[in-house]
Amino acid sequence: MEITFAGAAGTVTGSKHIIRLWDNKRVMLDCGMYQGLGKETYKLNNEDFANPSEIDAILLSHAHIDHSGLIPKFVKDGFEGDIFCTEATYALCEIMLRDSAYIQEADVHYSNKRHGRDEENAYHPLYTAKHVEKALEQFVIVRENESVKIIDGIEATFIPNGHILGSAAIYLNIDELSEQHTVLFTADIGRYGTSLIRDPDPVPQADYVICESTYGDRLHDRTIDAEQQLLSTLLHTFKEKKGKLIIPAFSLGRTQELVFALNKLDLHGLLPEVKIFVDSPLATDATDITRKYAHLLTKEVQRFCQSRKDPFGFNKLSYTKEISESKRLNASERPSVIISASGMADAGRVKHHIYHGIEDPKNTILFVGYAEPNSLAGKLQRGEKKVTIFGDEKEVKAEIVYIKSLSAHGDYEEMIKYLGYMNPGKVKKLFLVHGEPEVQQFFKKKLKEAGHHSIVIPSKNEKFST
Ligand SMILES: [Zn+2]
Repeated sequence: MEITFAGAAGTVTGSKHIIRLWDNKRVMLDCGMYQGLGKETYKLNNEDFANPSEIDAILLSHAHIDHSGLIPKFVKDGFEGDIFCTEATYALCEIMLRDSAYIQEADVHYSNKRHGRDEENAYHPLYTAKHVEKALEQFVIVRENESVKIIDGIEATFIPNGHILGSAAIYLNIDELSEQHTVLFTADIGRYGTSLIRDPDPVPQADYVICESTYGDRLHDRTIDAEQQLLSTLLHTFKEKKGKLIIPAFSLGRTQELVFALNKLDLHGLLPEVKIFVDSPLATDATDITRKYAHLLTKEVQRFCQSRKDPFGFNKLSYTKEISESKRLNASERPSVIISASGMADAGRVKHHIYHGIEDPKNTILFVGYAEPNSLAGKLQRGEKKVTIFGDEKEVKAEIVYIKSLSAHGDYEEMIKYLGYMNPGKVKKLFLVHGEPEVQQFFKKKLKEAGHHSIVIPSKNEKFST
């Protein structure tokens, strides 16, 4: 068996790893897009990392674009195999991938026009809606925690890992002539004790582990109640400053978590008469799917549904779909809460909200998730005083707040707890992926203290053979 770390090696996005067997059969774990890496992003996503016709199947951990976003390009380039994932992941991929194609077509059209590129020098989208529809036909739905044959010699089990709706770690039983191997791909490891997504399921012992490391250097603050912090930021902005609270949030996962938290605060009578807008058509669709699959969520959500309450809807909340409504929100001076995508603030409607609101100290921009350091969200989280948005330099006068404990990724203690279902002494190699290099070094140290050994931080396209 040979593993090639084709993406998310030393970076947090672009997840993709290829496993090759002795007979040259290959499966790929995830087929994710790079995001938030500035000008490099387009180039990285256009790189040929494998021959699509040589890959027999894709196993997809979850619907986030940095794990699923290059599937339509792979199909466009000749991939004809099956794409295995859970039912909720498939439902979410339908909207996520269609949206990804739509955004790319629109962005490329705008950029070519703005820079006056002729036919020869024009940029092209990585794929279009047509390729997404073709890719969706290749999806095969698997049930959680049930072993399924992928190809001769490989069986896979998708084990819910607490990250987002439908997400799963992938456990592989590999049978190669006289050798058997087990491989655990953790994908994005979720949290324990959150209100929306259930705790990660335990995982069986594996010979080889491919583990994420996004927050390998961080402990989420468990002494601060994230919901209380959200409330105090909202009250401070709305009541004291009379400004707007702009929250960049990923459409899938983070937005539903925020809405559920605000809903509960409202039920307890803690919210003022404030208008809250979810200004993202994709987030609205992702919320509909989350509602449909509410039976996969926590007991707290089940109780909500049983008492005939909508976890993702209440009086003060509206979902805006039309672009004209979004523009009206931009122009309005009225204090309000705007939750909008993308979480890294590099694209989407939230970029416009930030553009219009960033130079007013009355406003607050609240971050609730991971951002690539080079993205607009990354720069603001770092405290930069001037940023360029849509080619215009803007002074950062709005208040910048970051609630770190709302993340969908486990911190190093949670990841070590997750890996602790296994005996570290029996893991032959532990590969760290999906993290920034310094963070991975720190995580490696912590893992060693927890009894793990043979920890490898592969670089991009590095291969490992058994
Ligand atoms: Zn993810």
